[in-house]
Amino acid sequence: MSLSITSAFDGGNIHVVGIDGDTADLEIVRDHESEFYQWFYFRVAGAEGRTVTLRILNAAGSAYPMGWPGYRARVSSDRESWTLADTSYRNGVLEITQPIDSQLAWFAYFAPYTIERHNALVARYAAVPGFAYRELGRSIDGQPIDSFTVGRGAKPVWLYARQHPGETMAEFWIEGVLERLADVADPVTAALLEKATFHIVPNMNPDGSARGHLRTNAVGINLNREWATPSPEKSPEVLCVRSAMDATGVAFAIDAHGDEAIPANFIAGFEGIPSWHDTLGDKFYRFQNALAAHTPDFQTQMGYPKSPAGKANLTMSTNQLAERFGAVAMTLEMPFKDHDANPDPVHGWSPERCRKLAHACLEVLAAQIDDI
Ligand code: ZN
Repeated sequence: MSLSITSAFDGGNIHVVGIDGDTADLEIVRDHESEFYQWFYFRVAGAEGRTVTLRILNAAGSAYPMGWPGYRARVSSDRESWTLADTSYRNGVLEITQPIDSQLAWFAYFAPYTIERHNALVARYAAVPGFAYRELGRSIDGQPIDSFTVGRGAKPVWLYARQHPGETMAEFWIEGVLERLADVADPVTAALLEKATFHIVPNMNPDGSARGHLRTNAVGINLNREWATPSPEKSPEVLCVRSAMDATGVAFAIDAHGDEAIPANFIAGFEGIPSWHDTLGDKFYRFQNALAAHTPDFQTQMGYPKSPAGKANLTMSTNQLAERFGAVAMTLEMPFKDHDANPDPVHGWSPERCRKLAHACLEVLAAQIDDI
C-alpha cells in the first residue's frame, strides 16, 4: 500500500510534492494573499506498521525559520491526544520521522483547534447560565465573531485569542478561561465575577483558522497590525471587537498568542506607548511577576525586547488598548516548543497545560483586581 496524504479538511494545510515509498516530500502552503506560512496539519493513510519520513522542503522560507531548531511536530492517531514526533531541521528542510501503528495518523504544527471545535465550544457556553452570547460582527468570509460576557463587576476585562489563527494554543487557553469562569462554586471565580465583567472572544480570526493559515485573515491581513485603523474591507474582525471595547471600556486585557522560537511562556507589555506612566506600567509588572511566582509554567527571563519610550507600535492590540483606555493590557505568548523550565517530554507544551495556565492567570487576576 502506498502512502496517501491530504489536508483537505477544516484547518488543514499541506501540499504534496511527491511520495516515494515511506518518504513524502511536502510543502506548507502560504496564507492566501500573503507571504506568511508555518502552520501545517495533514493526514497520513496507508502507513500502518511502517516508519514514515515526512520532509517539509520549504521550511527555510517560512515566517519564522528560527522556530524550527529544537522544535518537534505533533502527531496523533485520534486527533485528541497529540504527542511529540521525532523532528529535525537540517539544510532548510524540516524532517519528521515517525513509526505509525494505526491506519490513520495526523500531523500538525501544534494540536489543531478547528472551526468545528470552536463551534462546539460556543454552543456549550451559550447554554451555561450567566454567559451572555453576542455576535460582535462577521469576518470577511461571513463567519461570526463570537463573544461571551460573564460577571457583574465594575471592571471591564477583555480576553481574546487567535488573531493569528495558526497559534491554536491561544484558543485552548480560552477554553481554560471559560471552564474556570463557569465554575461558580469556585471562590476565585465568585470573587472575579463580583468585581469584574469579562468579555471573551475565543477566536478573532475564524477565516484564517478554517483556511489553515498561520498569521492572516481571508485577504492576507495580519489582524494584530490593524488596531489603529481597522476597516470593513481589510479587518472587520478587529473593527467589530474594538467597537465593542469602545462601548464597555477596558481595564485589563490579555491577547493570547503562540511564539515559534522561544521555548517558554512569557508576556509582552505596552512599554513605549505615548501615555506610558509608571503607575500603569507597575500594574502590568506586578501581574507578570505574580504569575511567575504562582506557576512553574510561567517565567519572566525570556521574552521580547521592550519598545523604547514613544516607539510602541499602536497598530498592535496590546499597545492600542493601553493607550486608548489606560488598560493594563498584555500579549500572552505560549510556545510551539515547550516551556523548558518545566518540560513535558511526551507532549511538549499542550492543550491541557494551556487550560491550566489560564486558570493560573485568573487566580493572579483575582488577587490583583482591586488595584486594576
Ligand atoms: Zn501571534
